[in-house]
Amino acid sequence: MTRTPLNTSLDEYEVWFVTGSQNLYGEETLRQVAEQSGAVAEGLSGLPVRVVWKPVLKDSDSIRRLALEVNARDDVIGVIAWMHTFSPAKMWISGLDALRKPLLHLHTQANVELPWAEIDFDFMNLNQAAHGDREFGYIQTRLGVARKTVVGHVSNPAVRDQVEQWQRAAAGWAAARTLKLARFGDNMRYVAVTEGDKTEAELRFGVQVNTWGVNELVEAVDAATDADVDALVQVYLDSYDVAAELRPGGERHQSLRDGAAIEVGLRSFLEEGGFGAFTTSFEDLGGLRQLPGLAVQRLMAEGYGFGAEGDWKTAILVRVANVMGAGLPGGASLMEDYTYDLVPGNERILGAHMLEVSPSLTTAKPRLEVHALGIGGKDDPVRLVFTADPGPAVVVAMSDMRDRFRLVANVVENVDAPDLPKLPVGRAVWKPAPDFATSAACWLAAGAAHHTVMTTAVGIEVFRDFADIAGTELVVIDEDTTVRDFQRELRWNQAYYRLAQGI
Ligand code: MN
Repeated sequence: MTRTPLNTSLDEYEVWFVTGSQNLYGEETLRQVAEQSGAVAEGLSGLPVRVVWKPVLKDSDSIRRLALEVNARDDVIGVIAWMHTFSPAKMWISGLDALRKPLLHLHTQANVELPWAEIDFDFMNLNQAAHGDREFGYIQTRLGVARKTVVGHVSNPAVRDQVEQWQRAAAGWAAARTLKLARFGDNMRYVAVTEGDKTEAELRFGVQVNTWGVNELVEAVDAATDADVDALVQVYLDSYDVAAELRPGGERHQSLRDGAAIEVGLRSFLEEGGFGAFTTSFEDLGGLRQLPGLAVQRLMAEGYGFGAEGDWKTAILVRVANVMGAGLPGGASLMEDYTYDLVPGNERILGAHMLEVSPSLTTAKPRLEVHALGIGGKDDPVRLVFTADPGPAVVVAMSDMRDRFRLVANVVENVDAPDLPKLPVGRAVWKPAPDFATSAACWLAAGAAHHTVMTTAVGIEVFRDFADIAGTELVVIDEDTTVRDFQRELRWNQAYYRLAQGI
């Protein structure tokens, strides 16, 4: 069987840079438009996704054909559009209507400073984005086209940064549109928030969510050879601070080998099926010897999405966040709000999971240990133990509100954790913005889950762009949030998202 290793890099992707104009200007002006738009596109080189300049668009038919070509190519994940001159916007109607990829309207111009003493009417004719982009803004709004608008010269780092955030969101979107998610077992019994409409998820996000009997995974684990396990154990010894009892010759070395076999089997199952995300359930482990801990942690750190207890919605978010953060320091992980330190003025949240927190949240060398797990009724599972690095982070949850999916995000700060000598799991300790009480009250009001993706690689703007691209509700709790305004936003959103979907 063919195996497809997971690709999380942005290297294969492109965004196309298109410039609008019209034939009225004549050859000489259009030659300059092409030259200058090439230079603007070149000014965006070095961003994580390659920007590819396309010949200037001057009529409806070529605009529509370009949109169809973009739609058809999996490697083209978005379009940046700039109206260097005046491009009468009715030329854009059928193209914008056909376009099914993320759009960024770059409102820029060729020069930073105006050469005041040189300006004649030829200059005015050539340099009129201030005017052409307003026409383009009108038609996008008139047609209800979702897009990000970025304003400024490409030499401005703030402009490049906004384009980069959008590129990352577009890459997350492209990854979602082609994502296959394997569930081993169903949701944890009786849990509400991890339920959801999988048909709607495929329509809205493009993610295929399907379930396999856990014993198919067990077969893949049983197929792991001694040589596979030996090689992986060596990787563990090289990468982690491995507890003495788990090392070769140690009294619990077999537990490590069982954990390695689970990783070998899981990886082969995922690669053979072309999956980019998966879930497990401690209530449905079939013939697995341990609840997968170490394997899940390592696969998340490589870019896979994962949700525990059958939580496929969070698994989608972890995969998307891993792609959006590709190449950046930090990472993305399943996270769960567990317990609070309620000391007034210094409130903190301790988050963790039974086992499955990604070591991409730390730059320290994790410890590899084995401990009893009072749930699931299997052998003691091996796991990586560490604390997430201090620094900015975002947690995002997805809830199914019956008629739509709602994303809820909280901007947080991971802080140094006190010693936790008796807590043998990966964990993070954070302070939520704007303060603990506001954050928790808003989170509860929004019906957001206890499972989240925590990312330390990208910030809130990438998630805002992603939600805009997906047409999905996102409510953000950050330094500007108040409970009263947040509740009002939720109430208004109830009406808006129902109206926006039509009947
Ligand atoms: Mn959980």
